[in-house]
Amino acid sequence: MIISKNPYNGEEIASIKELSKKEINDALALAQDRFKTWRKTTFSERSKLMLAAAKELEKNKAEYAKTITQEMGKPISQALAEVEKCAWVCRYYAENAEKQLSNEVIKTDANKSYVAYEPIGVVLAVMPWNYPFWQVFRFAAPALMAGNIGILKHASNVMQSAENIQKIFERAGFPKGCFQNLAIGSDKVEEIIRDPRIKAVTLTGSKPAGSAIASVAGEEIKKTVLELGGSNALVVFEDANLEKTVDVCVQARYQNTGQSCIAGKRLLLQEEIAEDFLALLSKKVRELKSGDPMEENTYVGVLAREDLAEDLEKQLKESVKQGAKILLGGKRNGNYFEPTIVTNVSMDMTIFKEETFGPLLSVTNFKDTEEAISLVNSSAFGLGVSVFTEDLDMAEKIVSHFDDGAVFINELVKSDPRLPFGGTKTSGYGRELSIHGIHEFMNRKTVYIHKF
Ligand code: NAP
Repeated sequence: MIISKNPYNGEEIASIKELSKKEINDALALAQDRFKTWRKTTFSERSKLMLAAAKELEKNKAEYAKTITQEMGKPISQALAEVEKCAWVCRYYAENAEKQLSNEVIKTDANKSYVAYEPIGVVLAVMPWNYPFWQVFRFAAPALMAGNIGILKHASNVMQSAENIQKIFERAGFPKGCFQNLAIGSDKVEEIIRDPRIKAVTLTGSKPAGSAIASVAGEEIKKTVLELGGSNALVVFEDANLEKTVDVCVQARYQNTGQSCIAGKRLLLQEEIAEDFLALLSKKVRELKSGDPMEENTYVGVLAREDLAEDLEKQLKESVKQGAKILLGGKRNGNYFEPTIVTNVSMDMTIFKEETFGPLLSVTNFKDTEEAISLVNSSAFGLGVSVFTEDLDMAEKIVSHFDDGAVFINELVKSDPRLPFGGTKTSGYGRELSIHGIHEFMNRKTVYIHKF
């Protein structure tokens, strides 16, 4: 049995029976079979269904958001925004997939030569609980529009959301088997990856899960896309707009109760403005409303599981021993972790080196641009970095100095269906979203037509 518990009040909200070996086999057989017909459908047929999925998301967003909040403790207003964003990505690919996958003509000695983008078959998606809908839809919308088939292994604590996602595609009219959720634990993943009916795997999750999945897929010579952890820096130069930058930094760190791969986890402040910045930042963070995630005005909910809150507490305690100072918050009560600001953080401390998956912001001061770049790049992660300054020319000049997969200037790092999303270093490889995301799981077939 896979048990779903409400992390806010501990109530058991669902117990879902794990699939048997036979049921997994039947699901893979159905997926394989469905691929034969689905790949032959036209873009306009797929597009109609994907637009219907977007409508279904919008029509029943309250119901889907409620389940998300009950399962993982995200404030309800943020759960609603997540469901709406899923409708956006469905619409985006419904409208753009055909163009993105049209033949790419290349002039050679042939009469005609081009690259054709063809679907590869059944793709396994192993997904995390922090954005239970978004993580799945940003994989599923391009995959299905491309003619591939989706099999989902979702995180064990969001199995009802996983079932809802399958229901959404069915309600939209997708043929049975185009998208299936498997209620299974992570111990079943290896066997599924090794199954010849699975052609590729995408994982959003932690580094250990990424290594495990990529090793097995590597042995089987199957393509993987890995979206792993992050420890994004927020770099604030002395000329930055103080008020606006503080607001963006608060959102970057504390939305989703800090449980986001792309959250701004390391605040880097130029020495001259550090004091003023921290004064305003503390005031704004103190004003964030914590509480029942089902209440509309709650901004900070609870962490999805108590062990996650305990891990964060451990990281904080270790860092304090290493010399860090708690400026605000720092206390845990069960699954709830106070919005926290920690100053005096240096490169060798735990909360600087490791990913902190909760509402804790570490603060480090820097002297000049060179030091800021070196602090950013010292991280083992490379998902993204935000730079705050009024000097856009300077900011653009330093973009190429960062190792990360994304640089956002005067904005938090965020995902947008129109832009590629993904990391470098231990944040993973491959890209999701935009034309780059839809190209990941395609056979780029070289076609050469010569007339004697
Ligand atoms: P996780 O423990 O890695 O779990 C993610 C998924 O992988 C779950 O479905 C989990 O199943 C499964 N899994 C775990 N270990 C596995 C293994 N050895 N073999 C096969 N499957 C395995 O991660 P999490 O704690 O749920 O999520 C937080 C992490 O995800 C953070 O590091 C965060 O930064 C990262 N993340 C990255 C992105 C991105 O786009 N880069 C986005 C969001 C989150 P079970 O639940 O059954 O264990």
